[in-house]
Amino acid sequence: MLSWVIVAQRRDPRTQPCSVSGCQGEVTRSLSYRKVRDALSEHGIQEGRRAHLCKPHYKEFKKATKGERTIDRLTW
Ligand SMILES: [Zn+2]
Repeated sequence: MLSWVIVAQRRDPRTQPCSVSGCQGEVTRSLSYRKVRDALSEHGIQEGRRAHLCKPHYKEFKKATKGERTIDRLTW
């Protein structure tokens, strides 16, 4: 696991692939790692200070964070 982090840090951030493990999508957004990890917890998110997401995964992230709020309201 640790070696993964080292490899990720060595990479040029501009050419870094999506932080979702197994996804090679082109990164369009850089977000807080914790937020992404919480929102996309079913995916393996590569650890780091920032998480980089491709377009489809960013959409999923936005959906997930919106969904949380809706669920909060529904269970209230
Ligand atoms: Zn992705």
